[in-house]
Amino acid sequence: MKYPVLTNYIDGKNTPGGNGSLDVFSPLNGELLSRVPMSGASAVNAAVKAGRAAFAEWSDQPIKERVQVFYRYRNLLERDADELAALVTEENGKTRDEALAEVLKSMELTEFACALPQSISGEVQEVSRGVECRSERLPLGVVASITPFNFPNMVPNWTIPNAIALGNAMILKPSEVVPLSAMKLAELLKEAGLPDGIFNVVHGGREVVEAICDHPDIEAISFVGSTKVAKLVYTRATANLKRALTLGSAKNHLIVLPDAHRDMTASNVAASMSGCAGQRCMAASAMVAVGDIDHIIEKLCVEARKIVPGKNLGAVISKQAKERIEGYITEAEAQGATVLVDGRGATVAGSEGGYYVGPTVIDNVTPDMKIAREEVFGPVLPILRAPTVDEAIEIENASQYGNAAAVFTQSGGLARYVAEKADAGMIGVNIGVPVPREPFSFGGWSDSRFGVGDLTGKSSIEFWTKLKKITTKWNPEARSNWMS
Ligand code: NAD
Repeated sequence: MKYPVLTNYIDGKNTPGGNGSLDVFSPLNGELLSRVPMSGASAVNAAVKAGRAAFAEWSDQPIKERVQVFYRYRNLLERDADELAALVTEENGKTRDEALAEVLKSMELTEFACALPQSISGEVQEVSRGVECRSERLPLGVVASITPFNFPNMVPNWTIPNAIALGNAMILKPSEVVPLSAMKLAELLKEAGLPDGIFNVVHGGREVVEAICDHPDIEAISFVGSTKVAKLVYTRATANLKRALTLGSAKNHLIVLPDAHRDMTASNVAASMSGCAGQRCMAASAMVAVGDIDHIIEKLCVEARKIVPGKNLGAVISKQAKERIEGYITEAEAQGATVLVDGRGATVAGSEGGYYVGPTVIDNVTPDMKIAREEVFGPVLPILRAPTVDEAIEIENASQYGNAAAVFTQSGGLARYVAEKADAGMIGVNIGVPVPREPFSFGGWSDSRFGVGDLTGKSSIEFWTKLKKITTKWNPEARSNWMS
C-alpha cells in the first residue's frame, strides 16, 4: 500500500474511526493506494461537537481577519500545486495537466473568498425620519459539504473557502473513492492558521451522509454528485428543516450549426467530450448536428483520434465505470448507431491494471436511445441529427437535466436565439465547457440542481449566511409613528 491507512480529521487531529474500511485504488494502474474509514454517526457527532466549540471564536472575528487564513491558504495551494496535482492524478486518474488545472481553479476560488470583505457589505438606509435600517450577513454555524469523485481538489474548494471565510465551521465528506486530496487540504488549512475544529473531514459513504442529514446541529448541507443521491440528500436534509443545495448529474448538448467555424468547433467539441475522460458534469455529452455538417464531423473524428489513453487522456474511475461506458456504446451500435471512432477495449502499455476508455464518436444516434438520454460519464460523444435549429433546441430541452448547453455558430443572431431558448443554467457560445468563472456563480437547472441559488461566486454568499436586519432610532425629535 503506497500511503498509510487514512483516518478522519476532527478538531485538528487525525482521528481513527469507522465501522470498517474501504480500499482505495489508483485508476491509472489498479495500485492499492490506501484504505479509508467508513464512518457513521459517532464520527459526525464528534465533528459537530468540535465545530460548535470552535465556531464562537471564529465567527466573532471580523471577516477581514478571517480571510487572512485564505490569503495564506491560496499561496500554499500554489506552493504545493505539483504535489496536489500528482495526488489528484493518482487517486482520480486524470492527466497531470488536468489535475494542475483543478488546483489552479482552487486558487481562483480561494481568491474570491479573500475578496469577500469587499462584496458582503450589508445595506443601510434612513427608512423614516431619524430611523435607520441596517442589514448584516452572519454565519450559520456548523455546515457540511459532500463531494463527488471527479474533482477531488476543486469541488471541495467550491465550498471550503467561502463557507469558512463567511464564519462557518465545516464538515467535509469527500468521495470515499478519492479521499486523499481532502486530507492534504486539511493539512494546508492548518498550516495557513485555521483554528482547530473549523474544518473537519469525515470519511465514508451512505451511512455518514445520512448521519449528516439527520444531525440537529448541522445548519446547512451542500452536495455535489449524481442526481439520484442529490435528490435523496435534498429530501432528507430539508425534511430535517435544514438549508440544502444539491447539485446533480448532467447531459450537456452542444448544438452545432452549419456555419460553425470547422476547426475551432472540432477541436473544442473533442476537448469537451474527452477532458477528464468525460467525467465532468460540464462535458459535452451529446452533440446535435443541424443540417449538413459532415465536414465538421470529419474534422472532429480527426481531432478525437489524436487523443490517446495514457498520453493526453486519463483513466476512468473504476473497472465498473469502464464496463458501464463500453456497455452504452455497444448497445447504441446494436440499435443502429454508427461508431465513427471506437474507444472500447483501450489499454495502456505498462499500466494494464488501469481503467481506460478511448475517445468515442457515435453518429446517427436517435433521441430514444439510452446513450442519448442518460449521463454516460465517459469520453463518448453521441451525435444526433436535426434538420433545423428549433428541432435541435427541442432535443436539448427534452433532457431531464439542465446543467449546461452550448451552440457553435458564426452568427450572433442564432447564438443569441439558442442561448435564450436552451433550458440550462450555463450556456456556452463557441465554448465547449462553459464554466462561469468567479465572480459568476456555478449551478444548473432542472434535475441538475435542487434548492435555490448557486454554489459558488456571489450566489454562495446567500447560501452560507443568514441576514440580520437592525432598525435604530437615537434622537427623540424623530418622535413616534406607526412603527415606533
Ligand atoms: P455520487 O452521487 O455517487 O457520490 C457523491 C457523494 O455522495 C459521495 O460523497 C458519496 O459517498 C455519496 N453517496 C453515494 N451514494 C450515496 C447514497 N446512496 N446515500 C448517501 N450518500 C451517497 O456521485 P459520484 O459518482 O461521486 O460523482 C459523479 C456524479 O457527480 C455525476 O453524475 C456528475 O455529473 C456529478 N457531478 C455534478 C456536478 C455539478 O456541479 N452538477 C459536479 C461534479 C459532479
